[in-house]
Amino acid sequence: MAIRNIVKEGDPVLNKVCRPVERFDEKLATLLDDMYETMVAGEGVGLAAPQVGVLRRIFVIDIGEGRQDFVNPKIIKTKGVQEGSEGCLSCPGEFGITKRPMYVTVCAQNRYGDQFTINAEGLFAKAICHENDHLDGILFKEHVIRPIDPEELRPKKR
Ligand code: ZN
Repeated sequence: MAIRNIVKEGDPVLNKVCRPVERFDEKLATLLDDMYETMVAGEGVGLAAPQVGVLRRIFVIDIGEGRQDFVNPKIIKTKGVQEGSEGCLSCPGEFGITKRPMYVTVCAQNRYGDQFTINAEGLFAKAICHENDHLDGILFKEHVIRPIDPEELRPKKR
């Protein structure tokens, strides 16, 4: 595995619509492993392929409950609303309060091409929406209803 460079906001690669994965080969497995390692090193809970410069419909998520790879994901159902803070490894130091669905149902494939369906809620649902947006060239800022001053997130000194 290897840590890849994370593309930062301003790079046009982050505004492009990604293409589906067609080959479930060793190259895909390596990309998924590299993406996971890059996400962990960046202390993120999710990472999408365009964030490492690859315009394919792939993301990885780990909200602390284990790794999940998503290849060619499709959100097929959403329910409810949640508001909370959100950031992005491609937008370091920027945070905002977003509005996202509380529940999502997503269909995707794993690294071997096997189909699966996941019902996610809370942070997991938010992460799926955030990463899925990356595949259509959308950054979380489009969902921000109130920006957060990074100072607010730092521990206060007495
Ligand atoms: Zn992001």
